[in-house]
Amino acid sequence: MKNLFANRVLNNDTSDLNEIFKNSANPENISFAGGFPDNRLFPDHDLKTAYQNAISQDGQAIFQYASTQGLPALRQKLANRMATCAGVHVDADNVMLTQGGQQAIDLVAKLLLNRGDAMAVEGPTYMGALAAFDTYEPTYYEIPVDQDGMDVHYLKNTLKAHPEIKLIYTVPDFHNPTGTTMSLRRRQALVALANQYDVIILEDSPYRDLRYSGKNLPAIKHFDTEGRVIFISSFSKILSPALRTGWLVADDEIMTELIGLKSAIDVQSPNVTLAAINSYLDHHDIDHHIANINAAYRVKRDAMLNALDRYFPASVTYTRPAGGFFIWVSLPQGIDAQQLLRDVVLPQAHVAYVPASCQFASRQVTNGFRLNFTSLDPITITTGVKRLGAILHNVTTN
Ligand code: PMP
Repeated sequence: MKNLFANRVLNNDTSDLNEIFKNSANPENISFAGGFPDNRLFPDHDLKTAYQNAISQDGQAIFQYASTQGLPALRQKLANRMATCAGVHVDADNVMLTQGGQQAIDLVAKLLLNRGDAMAVEGPTYMGALAAFDTYEPTYYEIPVDQDGMDVHYLKNTLKAHPEIKLIYTVPDFHNPTGTTMSLRRRQALVALANQYDVIILEDSPYRDLRYSGKNLPAIKHFDTEGRVIFISSFSKILSPALRTGWLVADDEIMTELIGLKSAIDVQSPNVTLAAINSYLDHHDIDHHIANINAAYRVKRDAMLNALDRYFPASVTYTRPAGGFFIWVSLPQGIDAQQLLRDVVLPQAHVAYVPASCQFASRQVTNGFRLNFTSLDPITITTGVKRLGAILHNVTTN
């Protein structure tokens, strides 16, 4: 059958990754691999009431087709929230509801990328975004990330050498997978470069509200003067990923095209869910809920950092994120984290992580991995890191 498949899927080899996630789902293993929120923090009772309220308030109309862009009242709330939480002042007409941030990424890729078109991505970056972009067969330019986010100086040189670059994809807040946050100066510099080189920035920020220390920064879109920044966020990490609801903020010209594309894909996001989220926001203080989950995640982050400080060898380094879901571990050169996972870490330590290579567009970097700290309890986190540390002591001294 494969000879009938389109080229866009023929290049995708996800078998290794599928294997990792299969193994990490095995309850015998401690999995730091997934990017899951903690089940126990979902506001399940409040959401149940919100669905009931939405259905009883709106009567039969709620079961009808509705607008592609999504429920106006919810878009208005998000427009207001963008102003207070991200310093972005837009109308509800510049907000579109999507099926998760993931659909928003796919829509933007579909809008901009012809086969072979050049785009810049962070190295490493969110592997789900790479999966979405891969479908459109772009040419990637990889920009390194340090403790202040994307290396904008490196980006400048890349844009100079490759003025054909159309799109820059960045996760500026508590980056997936490194956990680092782009500094204010770099946000400004990034927009200036996009203006200079006529590029669109896709700012993907689902972790923005999950800050455990330090002060919030304005979104990159805050600095946008030419309508070239598209902002994406999601309810997945602050309410529940099962709602499959995210939102996209874009200026008029881009928005019109994206609505057309979404209409052709799924007509609209599920209206009952959008009405339920709207009702939840009417009756609950989401910032109070976010403060609660942040308090719990802060404890988990600290548990993981303490365990890493205690059990990892000195030759292994890691990030110290101020929020989000992930810590990035860098191994000494020459160690292949994927091989190590398959041959030693899973079979001997019964621990799982996401190895570096699938998180780089180039697939070239192998000596690192991503750890998630939000889905497990602090004791399990410490046990898993201790077991992982014992393996790393062995392989780094051999
Ligand atoms: N962007 C980033 C950076 C993510 O980490 C994720 C989820 N892992 C998403 C987008 C997509 O999330 P969702 O579709 O659930 O909103």
